[in-house]
Amino acid sequence: MDYFSTRGAGPINLDDALKRGIANDGGLYLPKNLPKFNISDFDGADSIIDTANILLKPFFLGSSLELEMKDILRETFHFPIPTNNLSIPEKNASVLELYHGPTAAFKDIGASFLAACLTRLEGKIESPLTILVATSGDTGGAVAAAFDSRPGMRVVVLFPDGRVSARQEHQLCCWSENVLSLRVKGSFDDCQSLVKAAMADKELSITHRFSSANSINIGRLLPQSTYYADSSLQHFHRTGKKPGFIIPTGNLGNALACIIAREMGLPIGPIILSTNANKTIPNYLKSLKWAPSESLQTLATAMDVGNPSNMERLRHLVGDAKVLRNKIGVSSVEDNEIEEAIKKDHETFGFTTCPHTATATHVWRNLDTALQKHHWIIVATAHPAKFETIVEPLIEEKIPMPPDLANILSKTTSAVDIEPTLGGLSDALKG
Ligand SMILES: *Cc1c(COP(=O)(O)O)cnc(C)c1O
Repeated sequence: MDYFSTRGAGPINLDDALKRGIANDGGLYLPKNLPKFNISDFDGADSIIDTANILLKPFFLGSSLELEMKDILRETFHFPIPTNNLSIPEKNASVLELYHGPTAAFKDIGASFLAACLTRLEGKIESPLTILVATSGDTGGAVAAAFDSRPGMRVVVLFPDGRVSARQEHQLCCWSENVLSLRVKGSFDDCQSLVKAAMADKELSITHRFSSANSINIGRLLPQSTYYADSSLQHFHRTGKKPGFIIPTGNLGNALACIIAREMGLPIGPIILSTNANKTIPNYLKSLKWAPSESLQTLATAMDVGNPSNMERLRHLVGDAKVLRNKIGVSSVEDNEIEEAIKKDHETFGFTTCPHTATATHVWRNLDTALQKHHWIIVATAHPAKFETIVEPLIEEKIPMPPDLANILSKTTSAVDIEPTLGGLSDALKG
């Protein structure tokens, strides 16, 4: 399969798209055409790994990883990704639980896939590949965990000082020597700009052999489409109906994977994005003008994104705002509504949501009557124990800690503080 940049460069194969992350012309890689599937193509697939093997096969064509795809997918989907029905009378909803991986957020899935691919492509080369990753909280931990101690791989994590939860910060800073954690005096958008600037810098790129593991890397996107395929197929086979999805959204990587799955022919009904008070996407669909802004700090920190980079992919694949607003819904949720949703979820569902997932449950509770007839799958993006300082006071209970998270929190940490400048980053890389 040929991959092209959203700005035109290409074609290249999957290997190079994975290694480069971002295209030389500043665009993001996408396959030339999305493969199309019939629902019957998945007949006989009875695990998420089977589904992944069918769905992702065309994306590996022409890659040196083609013969290793099965192993890569087995390595990626090494923890359960269940869709569980909510037992609430007269309501039609379930929850897709994406938080059973090592760092308890959905980013573990994309990160594991990328690590499995890049280690096979690059792990034997003398000078290490440097994976640069800007994080608003969860990506960095997932990438660090996935690449921790892998030969030939170095990870540099940039996170915004004071804008990640204490447990998230711990997850960003507790790894082996091949992981460098940088606490940046700035916002997530500053971290993201720094990564882009470093990758665009010829000298630094040659010295460090950069690659990016942000959701701009196609390797993050591909495996994420798999759980939407698996979850929608399960529902469709059971009921004959296409479920809708409500997806907590920041940089638009997770929701884009669902939209792509629907474009490829999977039985997915309406898709609604829930954002926090960062309204760049809702404003775009309303005003038809793309106007990125500074990110605002909210309770759902991993969604504090003012300039969601995957919009470039979405526009390229599906169309601009005029087309998009007929294809997806989007709704923004304020902090007080997040708090209210966490309380109600605990009372009515008997389970606890994290602040990100709570944007989706809030949207679900406030659906228009016409939309209520659908079966909705609420996407749970992180385990609430990662955000216990927000959630525990609201539900007035302790949240039991998943064992993987407890293990990570028992490790010692270290980080380097830097200014949000290319000079600051460059010095830290030498160190
Ligand atoms: C990253 C993240 C999001 C946002 O996902 P995007 O792909 O950036 O839209 C939502 N919830 C959690 C818990 C996250 O870590």
